[in-house]
Amino acid sequence: VVELKDVHKSFGNNQVLKGVSFAIPKGQVVAIIGKSGSGKSTALRCIDRLEIIDSGTIHVCGHAVHDPAIDLRQLRQDVGIVFQSYNLFPHLTVEQNITLAPKAVKNLPAAQARAIAARTLQQVGLADKAQAYPEQLSGGQQQRVAIARSLAMEPQVMLFDEVTSALDPQLTGEVLRVIESLAQGGMTMVLVTHEMEFAARVADTVIYMHEGKVWETGPGDMLKNPQTAELRDFLSHGL
Ligand code: ATP
Ligand code: MG
Repeated sequence: VVELKDVHKSFGNNQVLKGVSFAIPKGQVVAIIGKSGSGKSTALRCIDRLEIIDSGTIHVCGHAVHDPAIDLRQLRQDVGIVFQSYNLFPHLTVEQNITLAPKAVKNLPAAQARAIAARTLQQVGLADKAQAYPEQLSGGQQQRVAIARSLAMEPQVMLFDEVTSALDPQLTGEVLRVIESLAQGGMTMVLVTHEMEFAARVADTVIYMHEGKVWETGPGDMLKNPQTAELRDFLSHGL
């Protein structure tokens, strides 16, 4: 359902993506790892057309993402994206945060949107927090609300960009468990993550990006046996 072919992207004369290609079959999970600045977030943002590519092609759920005639509204319904910062509206309850887009974008009646909010809150383990305000929740809970908000649009694909890196270690686990349960439920996902053990366990395919290229790719256990000096180095020194 997701396919990148020879994607190039520069910011000014900074070449950030230098011919990135990969494909994700329906129901599979890809984890992207790599050093800071290697182009992970940029690749993810290009998939949702938050960045415009210079050349190559990206297809997602039948959309030619960088075709100027793309139906952006439909693309954004089919692709959910969750970032490190959860950006919930502080003056709205959890339920209101979640029902906003289904009502505004999909024109769902309020009762139906509330039913979807209840279901997605259940999915992220926060069924009892519908009437809470974001400031009454922990960081991990807020991030799970952000995931529920994304799921409420019933996307075909979910993109996660380092959704746990702003969280304390003890809150990270609860968010990773939600992502893992989505994986088990068959959601097609791309995870940009620094959680190597998690990536190795949950991803069908791990992509190591280095200097704007897919440097090494394979199943989760490739991290036990890196083939390139760069990946070996990355795994031993981290960022
Ligand atoms: P990190 O692990 O730190 O999040 P990353 O792999 O996600 O790193 P990107 O955010 O994709 O890296 O950035 C890759 C390069 O692109 C960096 O050199 C960054 O400065 C540059 N870059 C990213 N976004 C922009 C932008 N909007 N304008 C200009 N340069 C950008
Ligand atoms: Mg990034």
